[in-house]
Amino acid sequence: MTDAPRPDQDRRRGLLVILSSPSGAGKSTLARRLMAWDPSIRFSVSATTRAPRPGEVEGREYHFRSRAEFEAMVAAGEMLEHAEVFGNLYGSPRAAVEEAIRQGQDTLFDIDWQGGQQIKQAMRDDVVSIFLLPPSIAALEERLHTRAQDSDEVIRGRMAKSEAEISHWAEYDYVLVNRDLDECEEALRTILRAERLRRARQPWLNAFVRQLNAEFEGRR
Ligand code: ADP
Ligand code: 5GP
Repeated sequence: MTDAPRPDQDRRRGLLVILSSPSGAGKSTLARRLMAWDPSIRFSVSATTRAPRPGEVEGREYHFRSRAEFEAMVAAGEMLEHAEVFGNLYGSPRAAVEEAIRQGQDTLFDIDWQGGQQIKQAMRDDVVSIFLLPPSIAALEERLHTRAQDSDEVIRGRMAKSEAEISHWAEYDYVLVNRDLDECEEALRTILRAERLRRARQPWLNAFVRQLNAEFEGRR
């Protein structure tokens, strides 16, 4: 047996991995870990009208846009999905995502339930959706405080929205309780490994099985 690359067999459609949770449950942390594990995973950098947090870089965490610029992108059909969250507009640019699917590259989305629903409706077969729950509401609040990036008022607003976000948990393919980061990361890897192997994501199998059948023919 050889481990040489098999370009024809390994070609598959790229996955759209949607990660949602109430704010503070651990989406960004786990997204970073997943991309460190597999650097071929591409992060869908959203556009937003919210102000950058300390340390956030234009084009890395978000494309920071004015409301007018954002609305122009929506009007031009450049957004795969968009929604208002905590009084700001957020959206996922479309072009890079469509290209990634064709190239067989997986894309990770850190978006809310509204965005998750819109992408699922548009591209059901390519989507894997994962919802993260906090181990408790007290732990969620503590995480928002230890992240130390939002004012007490902003944190109160985010906590107030958590119940509504959590109410959508059952719409997701997978639901993980983020108690321990290592365990949760391992569960995410397991999901990705299995989802990448689904028959529908491996169009090369059709030709491969035809070839096996031709071999049978040759033996008759
Ligand atoms: P989100 O992107 O969902 O808003 P973050 O990834 O920013 O959440 O996580 C919020 C805070 O909680 C961060 O300070 C992060 O380090 C911490 N955190 C995330 N997961 C865990 C965990 N399993 N145990 C303890 N702290 C965690
Ligand atoms: P934050 O301001 O903490 O970065 O994000 C706030 C919320 O907006 C999070 O729930 C995050 O998942 C969501 N969000 C970020 N980008 C997008 C996006 O492009 N579309 C949608 N629908 N939600 C987003």
